[in-house]
Amino acid sequence: MKILFIQILIIFSFSINSFADSIKFSKKEKDFIDSNPVIKVAMMPDFTPFTYYINTTPVGFEHDLLKIISQKTGLVFEKKIDKWTNIYTSFKNKEVDMISSISYKKYREPFTTFTSSYYDIPIMIFVRDSFGEYNGIKSLKGKKVGVLKDVFYVKELEKLETMNLVYYDNYAELTKDLVFGKIDALIQNLTNINYLIKKNLYSNLKLASELTLPNTKKEDLRFGVQPEKPLLSSIIQKALTSITSKEKESLVNKWIGSIKEYKGGHIELNKEEKAYLNTTIIKYCINPDGLPFEGLNEEGNHSGMSSDYYDLFEQILSAKFELVKTKNWNESITYIKEHKCDMLALGMETPERRKYLNFTSNYLEVPLVVATRVDVPFINNILDLEGENIGIVKGDAFVKILRQKYPSLNLIEVTNIKEGLDKVKDGELFGYIDTLASIGYEFQQKYFGELKIAGKISENLKLSIAIVKENHLLLDILQKTVNNITNEMHREIFTKWIPIKYQKGIDYTLVWKISIAAILLIILVIYWNRKIIQANNLLKQAQKDIQEKNKELERLAITDKLTNLYNRRKLDELLHNELNRYERFGHTFGIAILDIDHFKKVNDSFGHQEGDKVLVEISNILRTHIRKTDFVGRFGGEEFVIICPESQENGVYNLMENIRKDIEKHDFKKIEKITTSFGIAILKENDTIESLLKKADEALYEAKKLGRNRVVVSSK
Ligand code: GH3
Ligand code: MG
Ligand code: MG
Repeated sequence: MKILFIQILIIFSFSINSFADSIKFSKKEKDFIDSNPVIKVAMMPDFTPFTYYINTTPVGFEHDLLKIISQKTGLVFEKKIDKWTNIYTSFKNKEVDMISSISYKKYREPFTTFTSSYYDIPIMIFVRDSFGEYNGIKSLKGKKVGVLKDVFYVKELEKLETMNLVYYDNYAELTKDLVFGKIDALIQNLTNINYLIKKNLYSNLKLASELTLPNTKKEDLRFGVQPEKPLLSSIIQKALTSITSKEKESLVNKWIGSIKEYKGGHIELNKEEKAYLNTTIIKYCINPDGLPFEGLNEEGNHSGMSSDYYDLFEQILSAKFELVKTKNWNESITYIKEHKCDMLALGMETPERRKYLNFTSNYLEVPLVVATRVDVPFINNILDLEGENIGIVKGDAFVKILRQKYPSLNLIEVTNIKEGLDKVKDGELFGYIDTLASIGYEFQQKYFGELKIAGKISENLKLSIAIVKENHLLLDILQKTVNNITNEMHREIFTKWIPIKYQKGIDYTLVWKISIAAILLIILVIYWNRKIIQANNLLKQAQKDIQEKNKELERLAITDKLTNLYNRRKLDELLHNELNRYERFGHTFGIAILDIDHFKKVNDSFGHQEGDKVLVEISNILRTHIRKTDFVGRFGGEEFVIICPESQENGVYNLMENIRKDIEKHDFKKIEKITTSFGIAILKENDTIESLLKKADEALYEAKKLGRNRVVVSSK
């Protein structure tokens, strides 16, 4: 938004004697003052900064000037404040003693005694930016030119008979109509219009020229006094003359200097507007899916930028706003049509909507972009999207605009941004159009690496407050409020919700650079994530392999290669475990040593290999016989050890007898018959592993001695 800067031409022209301190009144003048008359003075309500209102208090240059005059003279003033036409009439009708802000005109002389001018303001012609070149007053030929009714130069303008004069009775209305195109130009004093432009942040006006007419120069501000009251006019004139340069300076600094530094923050509301705000809760609707502009948070409350603006509005206006919740933007549109809400917090002005809504000037402006899948090339022009299915939120003001402007686009309406982006993700839509902020916001939550911003659409989305047509009061109040939002306030809200700073004349190539950098970063992150996942998988596999290898190693470490039974090492470990259990819990156990009878002969007769086969076969028989709790291992050569925890002599004996018999019966193919001898020992007090093994070995020796193929239990 470009702001119109106008140099204020302050022509300060007190035609007074600035070093007169004390006033010398004549006898008659003194008597007049001593009779304590109340002087009725008529003043304007909207002649800023000379006489206007802040809230309900009339303020301005002229009010302060009257105060000074009152102090210097002792006169008491009673102010009658009304619009110019009314006070001018009532002055002519002699209903008041004085009038302020009146300019000298010869035709006014019969009914006015003029004081000297206390301020001279140049008169200016203003047009809209779009007016084109202004080449003097002839450029206004046939144009609608707004002027204040009865203003002193009106007669001279009327005599020109070139322009269509449109008469207004207040300055604000006049200026607003130029801003909104109801008139082509306006003529107004510079101080006043400058104030209105700055206050309302009107951005589309420009200064055409100073008004120069043969008999009209600057607007001279004077007091007019009834000619029947010459004492009053001479007293006022003497007071004006006595005003010091210091007093003048402070008046100018206070009232005219301050316009240059208008900062917003205070709003002038009239009685009707105040009464409305005091008695009304303003109901508004939002787009519940429009974050970061607006939406609902997890608690279902209004969130986003417009929510911050409404907090601000409530503060500025001391008004109460209430959200009327809707399911989606379409329902909000329906609600406002049915007057279930008074206004839409953020809406774009369109001709269609103007039929039922009034709009404030826009207070948010954001670029529109297209989101596509990452594998789609960047688009330079919206026409690159021709023939493709492009999503856009249903009811969005842009649907119509884009359809009109780009009829070749295949616009598909979706219910909300999430649906739109999901459909792009799934390939149902080629692209989706929304604001950079909204899409950026969704990208933060989702779609990383799947979607990208592929290009910008030349149109910007301009958002205003939309108010139901019937409610002019609310429109006026909110327009004033929007005008009062300072750039500082805008910036604060923007930076809170939008990480990318939008500034006037922002270089969007930077935005693209950031976007592209972000996308590259995302791709990089995804690439790295994939790499890391792959590496992790490999690592996991390696760990698994190692674990298996370790298990195998462990198994090998405790296993006899030939028979796959436990080896001597493991048997030692198991024996120690059992001994520990005995020592801790008193659970005794038995062992048996098995030795194959005359095995040497097997080897000798059938070869070592056949001998090995016998060893393997016997191992299998042992495995099938032992109980779950028993352990069996190859102790060495053709000797095996069976450990039977929690067992007594009988149990072990019976088990070994069964094994012995089964081996005896077993068909060893080439070898006719194999028998085995067993020595059994039960762990008893004071036994060690060595003593236990020795007892079992002795029993085995006994079995061999007794003729083999038998089981002997140690008697020790
Ligand atoms: P007995 O025990 O009945 O007194 O007679 P034996 O012939 O079995 O005598 P001993 O137990 O002393 O003989 C052990 C023989 O077992 C010696 C060796 O030939 C054989 N042997 C030891 N380890 C293996 C082996 O791993 N494979 C084969 N094939 N034979 C083995
Ligand atoms: Mg042996
Ligand atoms: Mg043997």
